[in-house]
Amino acid sequence: MKVELLHITPDPEALIARCARVSHRSESKSSLDADRELIRKLISWGHESVLEFASATFLVEGMSRAAANQLTRHRLASFVQESQRFVDVRDRALVRPPTLTEEQWEKARALHRRAVELYEELIAQGVPKEDARYILPIGTETRLVISANFREWRHIIRLRGAKAAQWEIRRFAREALRILQEHAPAVFSDLEVVE
Ligand SMILES: Cc1cc2nc3c(=O)[nH]c(=O)nc-3n(C[C@H](O)[C@H](O)[C@H](O)COP(=O)(O)OP(=O)(O)OC[C@H]3O[C@@H](n4cnc5c(N)ncnc54)[C@H](O)[C@@H]3O)c2cc1C
Repeated sequence: MKVELLHITPDPEALIARCARVSHRSESKSSLDADRELIRKLISWGHESVLEFASATFLVEGMSRAAANQLTRHRLASFVQESQRFVDVRDRALVRPPTLTEEQWEKARALHRRAVELYEELIAQGVPKEDARYILPIGTETRLVISANFREWRHIIRLRGAKAAQWEIRRFAREALRILQEHAPAVFSDLEVVE
């Protein structure tokens, strides 16, 4: 899976702190260290609405439809997902779950190859892509764009980075968190994604 940052609010910590300071007219106290200290305090108080002033957008490639179905349940995020109705997806790979042995994976790949052959056959016979796709496995990879504000990113990462979450979406959460921590350590450094 590849997770690429497409856009992030420039200087997000400065913006969040700038907005938060309006409530106490303390704008004059601004500096990188002071801003970060303020953000950490706000988070510890549960005053997370100020995190909504910054946002980040990622392009995700090579995620299975199974994981994408889970990710797109997050209603406060915005999405674009590659359409299997309009895009020919015969070259999309099958995502390999780590629990499958070599032997099991070979069988899964053989079944996937057979499904792709049938997909091609159906399209050649005039079946629309939107119907031919019904025979493709849920492990077929997809591409999507996800955008959310920092408050929602914290929510997504907490839920999807927890032990109870599925391995593939946890992998996504880990990569998104790594990138977000680089850009806004005060907002994200208290979070972690379990192995
Ligand atoms: C480990 C795990 C297992 C899961 N298993 C299942 C399952 O078996 N079946 C299943 O269907 N789903 C399952 N889910 C999905 C889960 O039920 C949620 O749909 C998903 O995690 C999105 O969470 P959310 O609603 O908190 O977040 P978001 O949609 O991202 O919303 C963020 C927050 O905004 C607020 N919010 C958003 N919309 C509303 C609203 N309409 N009203 C009030 N407050 C709102 C809530 O505080 C919410 O937490 C699972 C999720 C996890 C993490």
